[in-house]
Amino acid sequence: MGVNELSSGLGQIEEIYRRLYAHFGPQDWWPHSSGGAFEIIVGAILTQNTAWTNVEQALANLRRARLLTPVALRRASTARLARLIRPSGYFNLKAKKLKAFTRFLFAEHRGRLAHLFALDAARLRAELLAVYGIGPETADSIILYAARQPVFVVDAYTRRIFERLGLARADASYADLQSLFAQNLPRDEPRFNEYHALLVALGKRICRKRAPRCGECPLREICLTARGEKKA
Ligand code: SF4
Repeated sequence: MGVNELSSGLGQIEEIYRRLYAHFGPQDWWPHSSGGAFEIIVGAILTQNTAWTNVEQALANLRRARLLTPVALRRASTARLARLIRPSGYFNLKAKKLKAFTRFLFAEHRGRLAHLFALDAARLRAELLAVYGIGPETADSIILYAARQPVFVVDAYTRRIFERLGLARADASYADLQSLFAQNLPRDEPRFNEYHALLVALGKRICRKRAPRCGECPLREICLTARGEKKA
């Protein structure tokens, strides 16, 4: 296990949530999309290794081209897709990933998201992880934000913050970090959504990669790094 003994302090994960919520308020996430579940899935794939603002441009291009449906995406050529999603970076690779997802959706679920989302979270996760280009973070984003089932999404912000707090070791795996939340929080989809968004807010604005602003952090009293017991 890559989480240390502090993680066993039941209530600490709740305490962090309470402090973040009191400081930042509700975040109103996914980034909620008017395009529905399919657009969320496309966004979850496009956001790999890039900022969300770049994804928004790529999504806008796909929307203008009327390609944000499983049927339309399935018909579009990979080359055309790659051109349209260029702003999101790694566009050739991501075009292949989008095509792989639609192929899977039609091969296994008759092209229907409702059919896919009828699976329980564990089976859904296993099926998504078997699709080319979908790793744990993308799979969990799809399960939480598109299928609206309670799994915790771990990202680079989560890792950085929990390492600095002293609640996770540097070698903690994705599964280690995820179980920290699963074991210490009720399985609640809106709560998992909000918690993740709050960690992103903290990671972007305060617990930044370089020069964390500990003096203004709502977690400073419970953070080993802020107390000088750990290096950022
Ligand atoms: S106190 Fe500093 S190191 Fe700790 S979580 Fe806050 S910003 Fe990050």
